[in-house]
Amino acid sequence: MRTRINSFMQEFIADAMLLKLARWLRIFGVDVDFADLPDNQIIALLDIHRSKALLTQDVQLHGRALHRGFKSFLVPRLNIEAQLAAVYKEFNLNLGDFPSKTVCPSCNGRLEAVKKSEVKEKVLENVYKSHRKFWLCKKCGKAYWEGSHWKRINETAKSVKALLAPPKPTKSA
Ligand SMILES: [Zn+2]
Repeated sequence: MRTRINSFMQEFIADAMLLKLARWLRIFGVDVDFADLPDNQIIALLDIHRSKALLTQDVQLHGRALHRGFKSFLVPRLNIEAQLAAVYKEFNLNLGDFPSKTVCPSCNGRLEAVKKSEVKEKVLENVYKSHRKFWLCKKCGKAYWEGSHWKRINETAKSVKALLAPPKPTKSA
């Protein structure tokens, strides 16, 4: 039996096969622990963090997690946009919070908008000169800016939103 969760603060533990999905969810502001661990240790982690939901593509691990009463979602083997949409739909998450709540894709730390001068030593000169807005990860100290990857991120967000939108009613002639 699966419980449907209607919280938009749902946090996750992703297994080793889902690094790409974990990174994308973080970019969109979702808290995801990446657990490159044996199944037994993932189950133990779920036992410690009972509010977190497992994201996995492993049918056996998914079954074990459900059997133990943990939240688990079997991520479909589709492209990244469709996977993101599936997770958003299943857990009723809100993509509208992006990008204000973006989480560090590397370490799952919180990002903080900072003054440009604070990143001077952390980024290349051409990046520093050509951008105005910067963020720093509070946990690992990595600097972020709206670089070329930003376009791809916005495009992905758009695709996910389109997949989540209810189908448009067909116009009658
Ligand atoms: Zn970080």
